[in-house]
Amino acid sequence: MEPDRAERAALPDPALVVLIGPSGSGKSTWAADRYRSPEIVSSDGLRAIVGSGEHDLDASADAFAVLDQIVAARAGRGLTTVIDTLGLDPQRRAGYLEIARWARLPAVAVIFDTDQATCRNRNRSRDQPVPAQVLTAQLHRMRGMAAEAGAEGWDQVLRVENRAARGPSAADRAGPQSDRATPADKGPAGSSQPEFILQLSRFDWGDDPAAWLKAVAQAAAEAGFRGLALMDHLIQIPQVGRAWEPIPEPLVTLGMLAGLETGLRLGTLVTPVTFRAPGVLAKSVATLDVLSGGRAFCGIGAGWWDREHAAFGLRFPSARERLDHLEAAIETVRALWQPGTKAYRGDRVQLPETTCYPRPVSAIPILVGGSGERRTLQIAARLGDGCNLPSDLEVLDRKLPVLRDHCRAAGRDLANMQVTVLDVPVIGRSREHVAALVERLRGRSGAAAFARRHHAGLAADHLARYRQLAERGVSTIFVALPDLTGPDDLARLAPVIAALA
Ligand code: GDP
Ligand code: MG
Repeated sequence: MEPDRAERAALPDPALVVLIGPSGSGKSTWAADRYRSPEIVSSDGLRAIVGSGEHDLDASADAFAVLDQIVAARAGRGLTTVIDTLGLDPQRRAGYLEIARWARLPAVAVIFDTDQATCRNRNRSRDQPVPAQVLTAQLHRMRGMAAEAGAEGWDQVLRVENRAARGPSAADRAGPQSDRATPADKGPAGSSQPEFILQLSRFDWGDDPAAWLKAVAQAAAEAGFRGLALMDHLIQIPQVGRAWEPIPEPLVTLGMLAGLETGLRLGTLVTPVTFRAPGVLAKSVATLDVLSGGRAFCGIGAGWWDREHAAFGLRFPSARERLDHLEAAIETVRALWQPGTKAYRGDRVQLPETTCYPRPVSAIPILVGGSGERRTLQIAARLGDGCNLPSDLEVLDRKLPVLRDHCRAAGRDLANMQVTVLDVPVIGRSREHVAALVERLRGRSGAAAFARRHHAGLAADHLARYRQLAERGVSTIFVALPDLTGPDDLARLAPVIAALA
């Protein structure tokens, strides 16, 4: 049984989840439908491990001691933990709540409101039923449980109505792929949908780099991406891979991609202003625009990684100076892209002539990357066509008002600015696959922290998040897949993009 999508979306993850219900109320089944087995800590299961079997009541004390230890260890790492016990003892529940608080995990109580006759019938048909009077006592304890749990301080109390007949759930009706985004998921009509651009940051291209790049670009176009962006780094950055892994010069690479009939827009995300003299950048990007038939965009930022500068003999001035350069560079680039050859006299830049041919054939958008609130966002507001921000909703909600204020001060409306984000999602086919990806990719990061940073989840989870970005006015979502190895990986994004098209 697939979990109901609304219910799953409503449950925080990671979380500490405590099940409350009598024997036969469907707790273990509910948990197994929604969580990976290592996430579920069951007193029955542990009785079978430390004792002779699930119903070895003599082993209960040992089983609960181990259970408490497992719960504390998992929760302490910020990992989802589902406690599958009867959950009827208020003291034990208080203990779990305390662990959740200590671990800063949302605490969820799930109450199983299964009717008494159903529990009794299911109990009777078990190999080793609970004695009838024991079940009666459990059922008795359930009276008023919603109110009791409601007063205990859980972040969320969910009530599950477990019907006797296991008829099709809402999710079953939606079909076996209900966690997949489908066009039926389209948002409210009229809300403007963001476009997706693939950001390539890792190049697992084997012995035919050009063929790999072509195949990835074609697969990106087929998956619905509208463009392709390349990082601009001289050494592969530690956030993505190892220093000896290939990271091609982006403008040369984009030149090659411009020759393909993909229709993809092409640009950098972002080029550090410290790498190339601004006039030369203007020349390169104008050439890219011409060769691609007007598909170029230009992401630009102040640069941040001292190591790659030192290694390539480039100066890496102070942050303040780099931001000055950023302003001057945007001014220079714009001056050289204007029609005509007249002299340019700007605030920071003076040029005796602006003879730069070929001119771009489109109005190449300049996206300013970085989220420094005092200057970077101000530069974006004054000089950028767009601003690229982190995709994290909490961060975005802090940055957007700042950007809006800078826009206002610059006499401009934020609505006339492209707000773009870079998202690096872990997208799995199942909860099991998500966990496996996190484990493979996390390096030295803790699993929970890595999962949070990459919003690890199913396509439907990402779709929900992208809708929230759209509601905030994000026009373009740059997506970099942390597990990208080749063209086939992009198919996972096709349904998400289609749902937002
Ligand atoms: P627990 O004792 O609360 O953990 O209950 P279980 O999850 O072990 O479920 C008890 C029995 O009820 C099992 O045989 C399940 O297959 C069955 N069961 C659980 N949930 C449902 C349900 O939603 N519908 C139906 N028809 N049977 C269920
Ligand atoms: Mg059970």
